[in-house]
Amino acid sequence: MSFDVDALRAQFPILDQQVNGKPLVYLDNGATTHKPNAVIDAIAGYYRHDNSNVHRGAHTLSDRATARFEQARESVRGFINARSTDEVIWTKGTTEAINLVAFSWGRDNLKQGDRVLVSGMEHHANIVPWQILGAQTGAELVPIPVDDRGQLDMVAFTDLLDERVKLVSIVHVSNALGTVNPVEAIIEQAHAVGAKVMIDGAQAVAHWPLDMQALDCDFYAFSAHKMYGPMGIGVLYGKRELLEAMPPFMGGGEMIETVSFEGTTYNTLPFKFEPGTPNVAGAIGTGAAIEFINSLDRDAVAAHEADVLNYAVSRAKDYPGLTLVGDADHRAGVMGFVLEGAHPADLGMLLDQQGVAVRTGNHCAMPIMTRFGLTGTVRASFALYNTRADVDALFAGLDKAKTFLM
Ligand code: PMP
Repeated sequence: MSFDVDALRAQFPILDQQVNGKPLVYLDNGATTHKPNAVIDAIAGYYRHDNSNVHRGAHTLSDRATARFEQARESVRGFINARSTDEVIWTKGTTEAINLVAFSWGRDNLKQGDRVLVSGMEHHANIVPWQILGAQTGAELVPIPVDDRGQLDMVAFTDLLDERVKLVSIVHVSNALGTVNPVEAIIEQAHAVGAKVMIDGAQAVAHWPLDMQALDCDFYAFSAHKMYGPMGIGVLYGKRELLEAMPPFMGGGEMIETVSFEGTTYNTLPFKFEPGTPNVAGAIGTGAAIEFINSLDRDAVAAHEADVLNYAVSRAKDYPGLTLVGDADHRAGVMGFVLEGAHPADLGMLLDQQGVAVRTGNHCAMPIMTRFGLTGTVRASFALYNTRADVDALFAGLDKAKTFLM
């Protein structure tokens, strides 16, 4: 296997530290991944050499910043195989991308009696915007049920699909359960009844190559910080014909063509959706993250990630008193669980004392916690730099935690 995890880990300086006197074992990659030197250096290099505002064309630094900003957009286009950079809108992240679709496309296309389908396992970012919009338009938000193993009930989905459904907005990989949803089938079925499809790819983008043209979704959202890039930047992919027909989401500089007090005309794609000074360093950092990912053998990465995750799941299944929350046939990156007699928050704190970083709580996905009769879980989430030794440290940490709690 052409995958040297030690060499890879050496590219992530943050991993090489002690936390509470123990070597850091970072298992909170669902919240954010760490950044390799290439990303850190690209951001620092931009601020050291090229920092300027973009698209102003006034001087050399501005031209350089603009070129690098637009090169990064082209890197994203290639990374997700979009047809054109016009279909790649920079946003603050997944959350803003979903809000953009809700308050631009949704406000224009949804009315009383229409339905938006989401899964029962959505992050709040793919629930709340539709509820706010629903209060304004009368469109109804309807969840697709999830079975006891945390898998989407596809029979119920098919039953719910009728002419009232104008949009299916679905998470690609659940951040709480790790379930990989069958988005290909969902897109095909939704399109057959004339509904559009938005995919929340926040937890998918780091794990396998994406191809917008093959997938044929209408919108796809992701955040750079969950794919080894910086915080505060992400992408909305949208099909050109939809983006062209959509009104602006926010107004300001850059997104206009002409402005007068009589009226304003808007800029072309993608700038129509990018008002104000953009996160240039973030875009450049995203481009560097893509270069980093593309430099790896992605099949080998996927095999390594699957090996570590499967090892974690098999150890969890043998662990006394542990119940997995989400045990889908097809999962990626995430393992959620509860331990009999131990509150998740206490476990998180005791694991942290062992140097093991996990997330505890509802994972911004309260409805799916409620579905399982829980207020929260412990979540271990994995990235390409994690190892079986990290999994062993997690379970050794649980052993120790139990001695305090039980
Ligand atoms: N959707 C999912 C599935 C997520 O995991 C997250 C981040 N936890 C988000 C949306 C929101 O992403 P961001 O905070 O980067 O906007």
